Amino acid sequence: MPLEEYVSKRRFEKTPEPPPGPAKSPGGGNYFCVQRHDATRLHYDFRLEIDGVLKSWAVPKGPTLDPGLKHFAAHVEDHPVEYGSFEGTIPAGNYGAGSVMLWDRGTFELLGDASGLEQMARGDLKFRLDGEKLKGEFALVLMKGRGKGNEWLLIKKRDAYAVPGWDVESHAYSVLSGRTQEEIARNLPARETKSETAGAADRVWDSSRPAKRASKSAATASATAQPIEAAQAKKKRTST
Ligand code: MN
Repeated sequence: MPLEEYVSKRRFEKTPEPPPGPAKSPGGGNYFCVQRHDATRLHYDFRLEIDGVLKSWAVPKGPTLDPGLKHFAAHVEDHPVEYGSFEGTIPAGNYGAGSVMLWDRGTFELLGDASGLEQMARGDLKFRLDGEKLKGEFALVLMKGRGKGNEWLLIKKRDAYAVPGWDVESHAYSVLSGRTQEEIARNLPARETKSETAGAADRVWDSSRPAKRASKSAATASATAQPIEAAQAKKKRTST
């Protein structure tokens, strides 16, 4: 029962997250996705479709194209294939409460002859991603003899897609809707275009975030926040 833990952690009448169902893989059995999840702590959920489910790792610093970095990745419960196109907000009081952005998606190809499950069992999973943001060869490597046995490292291999100094936070827009995290949290409509320019993470400044990320564009943030509030106030007036 690979999805038992996923189901037991959630009440599907209270969260927009999908229950396991009969959905077909959007990636022909080799789908991958990354969700940017603004929960208690911001993290990225990295998911690879293996054996009919999305094998999942929570990556606090996110994936990177910089081959010089090894980012910690906690192996977490399998998610259903349906989760791979999920974006929205998990209401307060639910497991994982907070906004979920579909940050990247695409297909992957395992490297080597061993199956995905075999590679996971030996703690060394190698694959090539073909996403909208992430491309090229990566590895997930188990840190053996450590902690709870769920501690892995996500590593970009040196290849033509490697970009030293690549910054995940410069790509904080949804590949599904073009929205920023804040726009998803506010349930604002999808943007007409998905582009890098649409999605600086700090376009809308959230005061609960460390100042480091916000300082660059605090001015822009207040400039964009205002029209949204004004529009909402206007809407309120016209609807009453
Ligand atoms: Mn998560």
